[in-house]
Amino acid sequence: MPAQVNANGQHWTATNPGKSKYVVEVLQDVCIGAASCVAIAADTFQLDEENKVYILETDWDQDDIIMAAAQSCPVFAIIIKDAETGQQIFPEPV
Ligand code: SF4
Repeated sequence: MPAQVNANGQHWTATNPGKSKYVVEVLQDVCIGAASCVAIAADTFQLDEENKVYILETDWDQDDIIMAAAQSCPVFAIIIKDAETGQQIFPEPV
């Protein structure tokens, strides 16, 4: 099943029920186009013509790959939440 992506201005939210236990969010205003997320999880993240990250409506990478991509982002522009509880997993809330 493809991911369901909701773009709200520069704040994108997506889920992929049946495949991913995550809610994935990207903050385009924070993204600096470093592209490490794309290098790791190219089936989940891509860059637009302005070098801002967006989330693909595809089948996505596996969750551990998506998490590795989020962890690779130098500016924490990718947020991962638990789809069941809504609790933020990464970056770890302080
Ligand atoms: S790794 Fe972070 S800064 Fe780089 S493209 Fe992805 S979201 Fe943007």
